[in-house]
Amino acid sequence: MAIDRDGPQALGNFPDAEAGLEWSNELKRGRVPGPRLAQHKVVEAARGDSTKCVHAGTFEDPSVGSVVTPIFQTSTFLFSEKTYSSFTQGNTRDVPIYTRYGNPNQWSVQEKIATLEGAESSVVFASGMAAIFSTLLSLTNRGGHIVSSRDVYGGTYNLLREDMHQFGRSVSLVDPTSIEQVEQAICDETQLLFFETLTNPLLKAPRLLELIALAKRRQLLVVLDNTFLTPILFRPIEIGADIVIHSCTKYMNGHSDLVAGVASGARKYIDRIWAQHLKVGGQLEPISCFLLERGLKTLALRMRQQQKSANDLVQYLGQHPKVGKVHHPLARHYQYPWVDQFCRGNFGAMIAFEVVGGDEAALALLRHLRLPAAATSLGGVESLVSLPFNTSHSVLTAAQRKALGIEPGLVRFSVGIEDTVDLIADLEQALGKLGAMS
Ligand SMILES: *Cc1c(COP(=O)(O)O)cnc(C)c1O
Repeated sequence: MAIDRDGPQALGNFPDAEAGLEWSNELKRGRVPGPRLAQHKVVEAARGDSTKCVHAGTFEDPSVGSVVTPIFQTSTFLFSEKTYSSFTQGNTRDVPIYTRYGNPNQWSVQEKIATLEGAESSVVFASGMAAIFSTLLSLTNRGGHIVSSRDVYGGTYNLLREDMHQFGRSVSLVDPTSIEQVEQAICDETQLLFFETLTNPLLKAPRLLELIALAKRRQLLVVLDNTFLTPILFRPIEIGADIVIHSCTKYMNGHSDLVAGVASGARKYIDRIWAQHLKVGGQLEPISCFLLERGLKTLALRMRQQQKSANDLVQYLGQHPKVGKVHHPLARHYQYPWVDQFCRGNFGAMIAFEVVGGDEAALALLRHLRLPAAATSLGGVESLVSLPFNTSHSVLTAAQRKALGIEPGLVRFSVGIEDTVDLIADLEQALGKLGAMS
């Protein structure tokens, strides 16, 4: 069942506009890219990733010539002729009116991210979960069905299992690496597929090309959470995904100092997600947009360094006698060879590995490590380690964890930008102490 064209949320019968001036939730009307103002710098698609990271979306301040985007810490904006006409024309997303509707700082970040993704439009949120909730609610109808996976991020899993049915959306959770299971789960009511491009913590890869082909045949929307890879390493829109979501809390910001999310895609869908977001709240504050914009400037640099280190750590861990399986596409135990159909050798900077000696040994390893901080979250400049058994997957029984592939002793390692030799030396001394103990 394709999503309702007019939808329960359609605002009225605005005619299709030639120039895209008018908007409503009606999916067929004309639209312009953005939102953006004349002051927001546009960078052509042909430019490189770092150029886009630095320049796209910068607000070129006409008053004093500030080189970086000023902070528009305001809840509301002076009425103008444009404001009044936006109310009657229905293009309130494109005019500064009120910060829940839009703000130049949000538009700067959105322009930067949309440019990196190759998307028409993006909308930022106060968290990754706000982005996921608004997207799922706005792109399905009551009675609709969603196919997703058991391996998704814990917050997403809880939302899918505990809440979506309360809104009249049913959900099937399948193994994301089995196209047969996805196909079997699809029914007449199915409207949307939701998957993560690499899963947490085992880096399982869905068969994305087949999934997208299947979705096109059945007229389903494909929403992908690409938090682990970022647009620097993989751009889902290019292979036909409809919406890409990130928890910007992770790599996109990269400094572990804010919580944010984003959804990107064709403007007709992002407008609809935005309209949902207006009603449920969860807008990103201008000050956080400023920090996120600053973080994004080094995204390409950071991803390259973090990925290079992660690849070296996979090599190192793979030959260490105290380490069992390493879960990473470059490790010999990895079981999802189709990952290269879309990753093309870029697997990001998350690693999971099993320590010989089980969870006790893993706990001891965390005590001995000096550089990585033991904390949840990932994607920051500082390395972070955590154990799924007592954090993200603690609500599961040992048998349920085993069914997902989470064995005793599993350590999740988010590789930061520290020097690779220092990370390896730290692992070497910490793993060395495990032997002394047993
Ligand atoms: C952290 C995370 C989320 C949730 O994002 P928040 O910013 O914490 O709300 C969603 N998906 C993935 C893959 C994540 O890692």
